[in-house]
Amino acid sequence: MKIILLGAPGAGKGTNAKKLVEKYNIPQISTGDLLRKAVKDRTKLGIEAESYMTAGKLVPDDLVINLVRERLNKPDCKNGFILDGFPRTTTQAEKLEDFTTIDIVINLDVDTQALVRRSVGRRSCPNCGSVFHVEFNPPKKEGICDNCGTKLILRKDDTAETVKARIETYKEKTAPLIEYYNEKKLLRNIDANRSFDEIFNDIITALS
Ligand code: AMP
Repeated sequence: MKIILLGAPGAGKGTNAKKLVEKYNIPQISTGDLLRKAVKDRTKLGIEAESYMTAGKLVPDDLVINLVRERLNKPDCKNGFILDGFPRTTTQAEKLEDFTTIDIVINLDVDTQALVRRSVGRRSCPNCGSVFHVEFNPPKKEGICDNCGTKLILRKDDTAETVKARIETYKEKTAPLIEYYNEKKLLRNIDANRSFDEIFNDIITALS
């Protein structure tokens, strides 16, 4: 199954993508994670992407498209994948069609007011990528990853100011993709203002 998870920052794309990985045994392709790794490794791409990311802006299309194209060519994507955070612009969506097909687009629909609270409370593991939330999904031991014991961090772009910029970027550049995929009859809207379990159950229903 080839799935796109669409939604504003803080809508729960990463959390649900990880649950889908477990259920369907297909990889999560998170462009945010790939870019953060490139920044950490100080690659050419990472150095170029960093200033856009810390400003809450989108990294230029051509850089991200190449990244995804290379990743989808890997053998583990043969039976499907979950795209988390890509595409984020109409250009990216159009280019994606040049190198793969998509079965379904899940749109996680959240009230904008809830988004800042969700993102600033998020705590991420810099080692294994697990994601927690101080209020909604706290780790067993405060500040420590349940999965690998690493100290959790607040992502640089999860501060209130940058989150607001990311939400604006989402509204301007990414939200038009809802209509784009609706017209292609690929879109399923999920009310993501509810509990983790309710949201995930609806996603599974949509996928089946
Ligand atoms: P995320 O972890 O998906 O919220 O992504 C973090 C940041 O990485 C975004 O705010 C962008 O700066 C950048 N980024 C991730 N995915 C894309 C994409 N598809 N296109 C452009 N920039 C992206």
